[in-house]
Amino acid sequence: MSSSNSLVEIVDLKDLFIRFILRNSNVAFANALRRIMISEVPVMAISDFAIINNTSPIFDEILAHRLSLIPLTTDLDGFNLPEKCVCGGVGCPRCQVTLTLNVKAGDSPVTVYSRDILSSDPRVVPVSGDFPIAKLSAGDEILIEMYARLGKGKDNARFQPVSACAYKYFPRIVVNTSSCIKCSSDGTLKCVSECPKKVLDVDSKTGYPYLRDPINCSLCKACVDICEYGAIELKPDDTSFIFYVESTGSLPVHKIIYTAATILAEKCDEFLSKIGGL
Ligand SMILES: [Zn+2]
Repeated sequence: MSSSNSLVEIVDLKDLFIRFILRNSNVAFANALRRIMISEVPVMAISDFAIINNTSPIFDEILAHRLSLIPLTTDLDGFNLPEKCVCGGVGCPRCQVTLTLNVKAGDSPVTVYSRDILSSDPRVVPVSGDFPIAKLSAGDEILIEMYARLGKGKDNARFQPVSACAYKYFPRIVVNTSSCIKCSSDGTLKCVSECPKKVLDVDSKTGYPYLRDPINCSLCKACVDICEYGAIELKPDDTSFIFYVESTGSLPVHKIIYTAATILAEKCDEFLSKIGGL
């Protein structure tokens, strides 16, 4: 964990999710980072289909929609965006991967899973084999050829690399000690017991409430509302943000944030070069 004085403090980091605190910043920067993570970090997704045979009860369009939303592992450095590829976006091994789904039910019903999708490139496969796609009755068949490419979330949700990406102000709770009467007879203050997230506690030295767990505070103001004496104020810090980012599995979450920050820096560089050229 980084020092609590640093610009970024990582609270929790796993391969697929991260919780971190961004300090000494502002809403404009935090929101720019969030929006770029959602809409501009490219990932692989299935975008074109050749449905050769589909005798399942599911319409071709629904089947294509389901397949397109299956997250695929992405090698960002190994592929080009089609619009920037040497092939001009027609489709070549540098910008496109072919996948096939070929399942035929025998004498009994079969569930088709994402593990049945075969990829021509081991770098681009479904992130999990456990996504159900269709149920086939005896004798039904699905044969589809699919083409995956890099794309951006702003063009289609199938290219969104995050399943959750949000921030909230860092909560601060101020207790007015001249108003607070430490209202309770059973040893627990009303504001402490009212908190649905149980993030408040009683200071063992002073007896006044304090915010023990700011990360899990949802800023619901239940503590402020329950206090009859107006002794509690919720004052979010609008220069610090608690971010929560969860990857769909296409990219490791740290790669998503790194790429988003790089894209934001490139945008700033482009802006500066244009301004410099005036
Ligand atoms: Zn190409």
